[in-house]
Parts: sequence; C-alpha cells; structure tokens
Amino acid sequence: MSESKPSPLAELWQTMSADQTVDQQRLANGANRLVFGEGPVPSDLVLIGEAPGQNEDRLGRPFVGQAGQLLDQALASCGLSRPQTYITNLVKYRPANNRDPQPEEIAAAQSYLKSELAIVKPRLIGCLGRHAAGHFYPDVSMGRDNGRPIKVKTDITQSGEIVIIPCYHPAACLYNPQLRQPFEEALKNIKAWLEKSKTAQTKPPTQAKLI
Ligand code: URA
Repeated sequence: MSESKPSPLAELWQTMSADQTVDQQRLANGANRLVFGEGPVPSDLVLIGEAPGQNEDRLGRPFVGQAGQLLDQALASCGLSRPQTYITNLVKYRPANNRDPQPEEIAAAQSYLKSELAIVKPRLIGCLGRHAAGHFYPDVSMGRDNGRPIKVKTDITQSGEIVIIPCYHPAACLYNPQLRQPFEEALKNIKAWLEKSKTAQTKPPTQAKLI
C-alpha cells in the first residue's frame, strides 16, 4: 500500500519545526511546541490571533483557553461557526510569561504565516487584536478600526489585495467586558462581508439592454 502524501499544511509545519531560528526562539521562551493553525482548507475566513497561551501550549491547539471559549461563544452568537473557520496565530509558540510577541519573533514567523494563508486561501482575514491587525495594517487603531473592512496589499492573492477586518482580541474582552459588544459587532461585520461578497460572486452578469 502506498503511503499518503502529507498535506501542504503538514509539510509547512514540518519545515517550520526544523527552522533553527524559530526553534531557538521557542526554546528561549520555554515553550513546549509550535501551535499551528487549524480548520478547514480552503476556508473563506481566517482568524489570526497573537500567539498561543498556556493552554494552547499544553494542548497544541490555538484558542482553547478562556479567550478561546469566549471566541467560540461570540462566533456562534454572530452566526459564524468555529468548525467552518480556519484559526491561527501570528507567532506559533507561547512567548515567555505571555508577554507581547517581539518584532524579531513576528519577523521569523512571517514567511510561514504567508505560506499558511496561500494554502488556506481566505477571502477575508479577521485580525484578532492589534498585533495581528498591525501586521497587515501598521496604522491600525483598534478603537477606530474594530469591525472596519480594510483593503491591504498582499502577495497571497492574484489581485495583490485582500480585505482584513480588525477585531478586538477576545482576551481583551475578558479583561474589559465593555469590549465584548464591539467585538461581536466586528464579528457580525465579518459575517455580513462574507455573505455580501458571496452574493456578488454568484449574481448573474447584468443583461445588456436591448435596443
Ligand atoms: N491568544 C491568542 O492570541 N492566541 C491563542 O491561540 C490563544 C490566546
């Protein structure tokens, strides 16, 4: 019996695991493993967080701790479903003591995120928090841009552009419950954007007027 070929994502994970720069950073942070993205491939929607936390590092899956539970509930209440969403992080190991990822850590992970997106082929990226949003749109202000579709340049699509929607990070909603409502508004905007763009794709071309 012939052995099945690893999926492109499994190959990417293997390549990233063997990357000495990333591995040195992971070890220096005391993280147990790389936590890769998960979800359907391809997927219309990719959500990108900041970096795994303690539970994610233990279980090897993104967004499985308290912030993940809040995210799951918010997705469901906004008519989006986690099983239909690909979820990943900017940095794929837990930074020591859950500190913010540093620019050199984001830089070392950048090409892998790009390859991951090229494999998953989202139509829309939901950026969870200022780190993910700032990666695509450095001028982001979460107070101003939460829930706002923004077209950014990318080389993962043929058009050279993709739309991102910055959303408050679910962990920020745990610390500050007042952010929960605007966070859910942002998820509703994601749902509405996906539906609107799907309708636009499937609409028959306008008939030429007969004269
Ligand atoms: N916070 C993140 O940004 N990512 C996770 O996977 C978990 C918590």
